[in-house]
Amino acid sequence: MMRCHRFRYESPATLREACARMTDAGGEAMLLAGGTDLVPNMKRRQQVPPTIISLRRIPELRETRITDGRIWIGAMTTLASLTTNPDVRNRHPALFKAAAQVATPHLRNMGTLGGNLCLDTRCNYYDQNYEWRKAINFCMKKEGEICWVAPGSPRCWAVSSTDTAPALMALGAQVEVAGVDGERCLPVSELYREDGIEYLSKKRDEILTRVLLPVPVAGEFSTYWKLRRRGSFDFPVLSVAAWIRRDGDGIVEAARLVLGSIASRPLLAPASSILVGSALSEEVIQAVAEEASSLARPLDNTDFSLGWRKKSAHHLIQGALRELRGDNPRELGPIARRAAELVPVF
Ligand SMILES: Cc1cc2nc3c(=O)[nH]c(=O)nc-3n(C[C@H](O)[C@H](O)[C@H](O)COP(=O)(O)OP(=O)(O)OC[C@H]3O[C@@H](n4cnc5c(N)ncnc54)[C@H](O)[C@@H]3O)c2cc1C
Ligand code: SF4
Repeated sequence: MMRCHRFRYESPATLREACARMTDAGGEAMLLAGGTDLVPNMKRRQQVPPTIISLRRIPELRETRITDGRIWIGAMTTLASLTTNPDVRNRHPALFKAAAQVATPHLRNMGTLGGNLCLDTRCNYYDQNYEWRKAINFCMKKEGEICWVAPGSPRCWAVSSTDTAPALMALGAQVEVAGVDGERCLPVSELYREDGIEYLSKKRDEILTRVLLPVPVAGEFSTYWKLRRRGSFDFPVLSVAAWIRRDGDGIVEAARLVLGSIASRPLLAPASSILVGSALSEEVIQAVAEEASSLARPLDNTDFSLGWRKKSAHHLIQGALRELRGDNPRELGPIARRAAELVPVF
């Protein structure tokens, strides 16, 4: 049995206290939300913080409300409760579909939105137990010198595997982070860095407190498509989140397309210039898929073969856009149909 290392456990009752304790720990402490990622990582000695600061006793981090024309979702909201929230389910299908496809029902009952957004990056050479990693002399992300995926590279290429981040980026959401000096908001897209080790832009002692979602207006549609080995549960190896706003004649007025699990951060695809002004014709969808899938340059550090994952990007992008056009996703070919069928029915 793998056990956690010895650590100090603190459980503050207020956000202010939690911020103060994080700062006092000088960047050495780690936050515990649902623990579904952190605890297994501690058992495998990927993360060995001397102090754990739990967020579980802070009620304000669980609040969800609509204020100033935005939906505020507390970082400690579980993924399970996110999927049963009618505001999320009916108004933001991309977020609903992303949260509903994270892991398994048990893990969604424990796992939180904040923890999902701050999820550690993943790699086949890193997500192994201590003995396995020691046998290859570790790697740059933890205790080693080189990257086994790209040995000449000065950086780590571990992959961002969060499901909700691409969806929130496509929806134009913001996050609020808090520290001893107060709170600040930033777009979800600015929370991430293209670096497998330092993958978050926030300071180490800052706490993600809320996600702020705009309340959608008429004509907005969104979706989230995920590729993974097992439909029952698995991390994404590729994901596509798409959002559009159409006018009364069906012409696209604004659009965002985000690809997940292909880099150390979710990537905003250069699609809006082609989509805006179009009626989502087949030619436009093909052109967007061609342009956006060129971003997918997967490395050999997750599941499936490289070539197949790259080809799948094209199919997933097309499927997501056709769904937004109003096509039935179950009639869109094998890969697209499989992605659509993976969304659990409640
Ligand atoms: C078998 C298995 C399958 C999984 N499949 C998926 C999947 O398909 N998709 C997916 O996205 N995830 C998956 N996960 C990972 C994980 O379960 C989810 O991402 C979950 O949402 C993490 O949330 P948590 O609250 O448990 O985070 P924790 O494990 O508590 O924390 C995760 C990280 O975020 C930090 N953190 C937590 N809360 C905050 C905060 N408020 N502010 C700042 N930092 C914070 C922690 O310090 C830690 O570094 C899987 C995990 C397992 C074990
Ligand atoms: S990408 Fe390279 S450095 Fe990063 S976890 Fe994988 S092997 Fe290690």
